[in-house]
Amino acid sequence: MADAQCLCGALKLMLREPSKLVVACHCLACQRRTGSPFSVGAFYAINTVEISGGATEFVHVGDSGSRVRIYFCPTCGSTIYWKPDALPSMIGVAVGALAVPDFPAPALSIFERSKHHWVQFDGEVEHFQEGAMRKYSPDLTRRSDSR
Ligand SMILES: [Zn+2]
Ligand SMILES: [Zn+2]
Repeated sequence: MADAQCLCGALKLMLREPSKLVVACHCLACQRRTGSPFSVGAFYAINTVEISGGATEFVHVGDSGSRVRIYFCPTCGSTIYWKPDALPSMIGVAVGALAVPDFPAPALSIFERSKHHWVQFDGEVEHFQEGAMRKYSPDLTRRSDSR
C-alpha cells in the first residue's frame, strides 16, 4: 500500500492496509501544528503501520483534556503521524505526507467553529462545529448508535 514520509525522507511509514477514515480538522492546534489553515489526517489501525526512522514526540493536551502524541522528524520538522490517547488502537497519518493527490477526500470536517472562512469542501462531507468522537466509535469503523 501507500507510504508516508517526511520531507527529508529519514522518517517513513509503511501502510499495509487502507485508511479507515479521513478527517479534515480546523482546530487551532492543528493550524499551529501544520502551519496550514487546516489539517487532513488518515486514520489507520495501529498494528498495520510500520514506522522506520527516529521521531521526536510532542504531547499536546487538547481543550477537552485528552492528550495527543504528535511525532515529527527531528531533522526536517515534518509532522508525519500522531496517536490520540482517546483512540489507542489508531494512528493518524498526515495525508500530505503520502503525496498521493488522488487520495480519498475527507469524510468528516471537524472543529469548523475555527475554520478559515474561504475553506470549502465539495462532495459528501459531514460537518461538525466541534469534534466528532462522540458520534464515532473508537475503532472508527462504524458509527456508534448507542445513544
Ligand atoms: Zn525528515
Ligand atoms: Zn485539530
